[in-house]
Amino acid sequence: MDPFEQQVTELQGAAEGWDAQQTLIWGLSTFGQSVALASSLSAEDAVLIDMASRVSKFRVFTLHTDFLFPETYALIDEIEARYGVEVERARPELTPEAQAAQYGPALWASRPDACCQLRKVEPLKKKLSGLAAWVTGVRRDQAATRANTRKLEWDAKFGLAKLNPLADWNWSRVWDYIRANNVPYNPLHDRDYPSIGCTYCTRPVKPGEDPRAGRWAGFAKTECGLHVKD
Ligand code: SF4
Repeated sequence: MDPFEQQVTELQGAAEGWDAQQTLIWGLSTFGQSVALASSLSAEDAVLIDMASRVSKFRVFTLHTDFLFPETYALIDEIEARYGVEVERARPELTPEAQAAQYGPALWASRPDACCQLRKVEPLKKKLSGLAAWVTGVRRDQAATRANTRKLEWDAKFGLAKLNPLADWNWSRVWDYIRANNVPYNPLHDRDYPSIGCTYCTRPVKPGEDPRAGRWAGFAKTECGLHVKD
């Protein structure tokens, strides 16, 4: 067993009693430059970046699919300026043009799982292969698929430790933190986009809809595959 897997197994129960800051402090001090925050520039990720900036130097990366909103690209620049950190871009092997030539146009509209595999899962796998741990903004109440999220997990799919410091936070707590600390966030959140991904697969939600209803609307798909256990 990987020594980190052993450590995660031993600490997992106790970690449920840690608050978000304690979880981050443990992760950053245990893994140093071998841990990175995975950021889709969501409200949760904005919280984690701000929190990490108060602990120590930290690494953060984003999956640069080429299909993000202009507001998301602007937020990346704002985060880099505010926190003095480089947001590492994990890019797909194929440009949008090469993908269209190889798989046909608008793959996201015909086979979104294949498109996510090429533009998110494969770049993530490559980025994680150089890390010992990653930190995500996953919360249990975001979706049924996330209900069993632990604050500290062994990610068997990608073979490294996974920290979810906000696992027990709700949406209002995220926004209380953002407002109290004047954290930069994606302005699309103010325009009924609770969950933000690629332009082709994200729409605003209507009153009363599930917060993730705006992702891959019209498909049964609810996840990119990043946080789904095989
Ligand atoms: S979210 Fe949509 S456009 Fe983005 S990688 Fe997945 S299927 Fe492709």
